Amino acid sequence: MGERVLIALGGNAMTAPDGSASPLDQRRAVERAMTHVAALISQGHQVVLTHGNGPQVGNLLLKNQLAAEVVPPVPLDWCGAQTQATVGVLILNALGDRAAVVVTRTLVDLADPAFADPVKPIGRYFSEAEARRFEQLGQTWRAFPGKGFRRVVASPEPLEILDAPAAIALMEAGYTVVAAGGGGVPVARRADGSLTGVEAVIDKDAAAVVLADAVRATVLVVATDVPAAVAGYGTGQARPIGRTTVAELRELQAAGHFASGSMGPKVQAALRFAEGGGRAVITSLEHLGDAIGGGAGTVVGR
Ligand code: ADP
Ligand code: MG
Repeated sequence: MGERVLIALGGNAMTAPDGSASPLDQRRAVERAMTHVAALISQGHQVVLTHGNGPQVGNLLLKNQLAAEVVPPVPLDWCGAQTQATVGVLILNALGDRAAVVVTRTLVDLADPAFADPVKPIGRYFSEAEARRFEQLGQTWRAFPGKGFRRVVASPEPLEILDAPAAIALMEAGYTVVAAGGGGVPVARRADGSLTGVEAVIDKDAAAVVLADAVRATVLVVATDVPAAVAGYGTGQARPIGRTTVAELRELQAAGHFASGSMGPKVQAALRFAEGGGRAVITSLEHLGDAIGGGAGTVVGR
């Protein structure tokens, strides 16, 4: 029986194992990831893909900064749109026939408290002098002791995947669809109802759940670089979590077992999807085939 699977690809599906993101690194990583995805498709599952874009946006921001005197820097939402296209094209080339990329906007609320307290670090570390210069341009920078200064931006809640209808139409026409890359290009509604891009980043795991609901996925796979979420991660009592319940996973989450910038959002996404009636799996790409049936990774729901 074919499932409709929403796969959220993490950084390791798009960069070298050491995090390097040269064009060749990205192409190789995507090609490797797509061999696993293609295997699923050939087994009769319907696949919708989404992906992160942290290293790719980091590269674009650096280019913006280096070339600022020559070419006007483009806003963060443009960077998001550009990475949807470039990662998307790598995925299309690797998958071959009947795949499509949807440039996807995600609606956020300008009243989201995240805008008043930007905490999501993006791009590389810089010196204090450089951070101060960018602050003059209206950006928010924070000191990370021992590492330097890094730009921080708002990471608001994704409310709606605005281009989900286009993704659904392509999916129903038999395409393997790539959508909401990097969590989607963040846009907000002005008072007059019109849409405008905003300087923010959207957590790709949070957006993946909204997309999974919109396309009525039966399974959400959060594909990362570990075979499962781990309780007691990094301690002597580390224990990979297999089949679990919403209640147990919530309890572990509340007890602080999942780091906020990495495993935390994945567990949160899995919980939300499972609570909506679907099956969520957190695992690595190598286990994708087994994960669909709930036979690998951290499995919650249905
Ligand atoms: P991706 O780039 O694939 O989206 P991240 O790097 O953000 O993923 O998150 C995956 C990483 O989370 C793992 O490589 C691991 O280092 C870290 N991590 C933190 N807490 C946990 C945990 N409790 N269980 C498993 N991995 C964890
Ligand atoms: Mg990562």
